[in-house]
Amino acid sequence: MNLLPDFEYRRPKSLSGVLSALEESQGKAVLLAGGTDLIPRMKLGLEQPGWIIDIKDVENLRFITIEGENLTIGTLTSVHTVAKNTLIKTYFPTLHEAAVATASEIIQIRGTIGGNLLQETRCNRYNKSETWRHAFPPCLKTGGKACNVIKGARTCRSVYCGDLAPALLSLDASVVVATTQGEREIPLNEIFTGNGTSPFSLNKTDLVKMLKIPLRKTRGRYKKFRLRETIDYPILGIALSVDDAGRGYLVLGACGPRPLKYGFSTPEEAADIPRKAFEDMKPIDNMPLPPRYRKHLVRVFAERVLGEIIF
Ligand SMILES: Cc1cc2nc3c(=O)[nH]c(=O)nc-3n(C[C@H](O)[C@H](O)[C@H](O)COP(=O)(O)OP(=O)(O)OC[C@H]3O[C@@H](n4cnc5c(N)ncnc54)[C@H](O)[C@@H]3O)c2cc1C
Repeated sequence: MNLLPDFEYRRPKSLSGVLSALEESQGKAVLLAGGTDLIPRMKLGLEQPGWIIDIKDVENLRFITIEGENLTIGTLTSVHTVAKNTLIKTYFPTLHEAAVATASEIIQIRGTIGGNLLQETRCNRYNKSETWRHAFPPCLKTGGKACNVIKGARTCRSVYCGDLAPALLSLDASVVVATTQGEREIPLNEIFTGNGTSPFSLNKTDLVKMLKIPLRKTRGRYKKFRLRETIDYPILGIALSVDDAGRGYLVLGACGPRPLKYGFSTPEEAADIPRKAFEDMKPIDNMPLPPRYRKHLVRVFAERVLGEIIF
């Protein structure tokens, strides 16, 4: 790992202070929450922001509360707090299981829900030291013209490995984004672009303020396949949530640059998802384990999770 490069450091105490600093930086700033994704990336030389705006001291961004017909979770709420919350465990078991399965307990205590959602995509040719990367030409994600995994690929297929997004998508969550101009609510699905070079549709001056989940009791499961059970990113994450009327979503994570979401309202529709997911999954050789194995996993895990919760 390298030493951190120089950068302008700001640590405002208020949300308005953060939003003004974002404007002032003119696109040069990144936000620092827990830092468990950003700092390792900076040390590997994958990111060199001119400014860092540390949001840890901002008040009123750590909460889990009921607001009208939604449960709202503040962006600085730690993954550990999400895992321990009894309301979440009772109403949204999929989110509870995903939080428990995230990284390790120490990272859960430090990492935030906002940072978890907006973590960068990963690729085993990219998440490497600078020395290792210099053996190859720059790839699409590091400003080059070609992908080092697939010759001739036009778009980057680095993999989104967040554990919480599939669970939140299965619960039909949305995000509230704040800027100096005001706030807007976006369905969570819309923040993903599907392009690994710039995986999120948010602007440089946007701050994710909170998550909103429609408050209705669900049954569900998050199943994660990883190499090391004690601490690891998913090689596949599958989230399933179903409401009392039998309607719900199955969401695949770690299957490409964005999660894949499948809705269903009858058992027949749900039963067809493993086949569809198998067809849609187009893995490439950029993660541990061969692509064909990972494609096969999708059908097996989708069938298992549906079997445990619905059939
Ligand atoms: C060894 C190791 C194992 C890991 N394993 C897993 C795993 O199994 N599953 C998993 O999901 N993750 C894993 N992670 C990734 C990471 O630790 C978690 O995703 C964590 O929750 C990130 O939260 P953070 O607050 O530390 O994010 P940060 O590093 O602070 O931020 C991550 C990104 O989000 C942006 N950001 C943060 N907050 C906001 C906001 N409010 N608005 C706009 N942008 C924002 C930052 O600018 C940055 O680009 C692992 C990390 C490590 C080091």
